[in-house]
Amino acid sequence: MRDSQLRKKQNESLSKCVITLLNSGGGMSKIEIENEDYSYEKDGIGLDLEHSLADMVPIVHKYFDFMKQGKYFLIFVKSWSSKIPGMKIATLNSNLYKRDITSVNVMNATVRCREEREESSTKALASDFFNRTQLRYREKLTFTESTYVEIKDFSTQKLLQRIKEILPQNVSAFANTRGGYLFIGLSEEKQEVIGFKAEKSDLDKLEREIEKCISKLPVYHFCVEKKKINYLCKFLEVYDEESLCGYVCMLKIEPFCCAVFAKKPDSWHVKDNQVMQLSVEEWVQLMMDPEPVPSEKVTYIPEILYKGLFSQHEGLAQLIRKEMGSVRQGTLIFSKSWSLDLDLQENQSVICDALLISQDRPPVLYTFLRDLNDELKGYSIKTALTLKKKLVKVGGYTGKVCVMTKIYWSEESSTLTEGSARLLHDSSLSAIYPKSYTLITSQTINDLKKALFIVLKRLGTLSDKFDSEIFQHLLTAGSFLMSQLFASGTRSIQLQHQSFQ
Ligand SMILES: [Zn+2]
Repeated sequence: MRDSQLRKKQNESLSKCVITLLNSGGGMSKIEIENEDYSYEKDGIGLDLEHSLADMVPIVHKYFDFMKQGKYFLIFVKSWSSKIPGMKIATLNSNLYKRDITSVNVMNATVRCREEREESSTKALASDFFNRTQLRYREKLTFTESTYVEIKDFSTQKLLQRIKEILPQNVSAFANTRGGYLFIGLSEEKQEVIGFKAEKSDLDKLEREIEKCISKLPVYHFCVEKKKINYLCKFLEVYDEESLCGYVCMLKIEPFCCAVFAKKPDSWHVKDNQVMQLSVEEWVQLMMDPEPVPSEKVTYIPEILYKGLFSQHEGLAQLIRKEMGSVRQGTLIFSKSWSLDLDLQENQSVICDALLISQDRPPVLYTFLRDLNDELKGYSIKTALTLKKKLVKVGGYTGKVCVMTKIYWSEESSTLTEGSARLLHDSSLSAIYPKSYTLITSQTINDLKKALFIVLKRLGTLSDKFDSEIFQHLLTAGSFLMSQLFASGTRSIQLQHQSFQ
């Protein structure tokens, strides 16, 4: 027993060390070999270690190299680089849970339909049960475990400890899914009411401990409301004939607006020369920050407008592709005139404007001109300034932001052709901003898109040919990030399970 505990502890500290190296540019981990007969060629790296390492990375040999040196075993760790969206950093366990019974297998539509009906009837039955005033010992349950229901039967001795163990994961899972009920004191196996023995005063203590435990769960908000985890806790008396023989503890957990973690993600990095566990905020920000990807990761909208422009100006498509080459991910919103969209004057020399909102630079307003005159630089800058002001004053954007401008013009003809485009102005070459203005996180993107949505809605200047496409895009940004976060969360948990098989 002690040996296995020691091994578990060693394994934990090694995992922590390796995760830290993965997240901090790579490095080497040195392990002292206890077994004198050990040979790397003959024995390999050992099953325990192999499993631990396989939990951390998709392909062990892509990240790790091994070497035996005297009485030491060396693990060389390569810096983490994942192309999988939402897997920007190495994490042992995200501690973000979801209840998901139906998604494990792909099912056909009729099966899923029936399942969903059954699920919602369980929910209704569980809700009736929750609203009862007392229970009978060994009475049969009308519902089973489902997406909405979790049933536990704990012995009295370690009741509080067991509840504290299961609460974080269960509350996280219910709150992150569709809410649900956690019943303690029912037998899932026998499908009946059992109850646990307790004094009245124990129940008060239990309720306080539950409250303390839930209030400590780390949460991350994408929204402005930032609501708290909402739940109800209730104890029901269980009667055997006429006498009170125990209690059932019931928790009703409401769905949460954003993300609830069971505890801080198991992920570490080196900060100020110290190994630090990432906070939920740091972890989410790092997770959301996507890897460099080719330019098709930039979404162009509105489709009809940019396709029309590209067919009229053959040089434009090429120029844009070149400009977007280094952008990892973002949105390029085309307009005949962003100036007009912001309720300013349009300019006949402008072919089009395009606003880039991306992860790795402040917003850039591109302007493409068919000819050149002096006032045009002013046109672009004025549009950018107006946009910035409106994002704050109308859109309610509260962060620090700057809008860069970049102007191209066609030297030879009034249409942009390959080779005719010349750079007239690029504000990023001369503008100096503090880092707090140019550092764009996924939260910034979200906030900017939300603010832009409000600005454009209020002004009502968008053509109705394009507005729905633009609005839809700006609105879905938040839910996209959520789904990405959860995709990464479930992955880590699946990995965790594999190690026990
Ligand atoms: Zn929220």
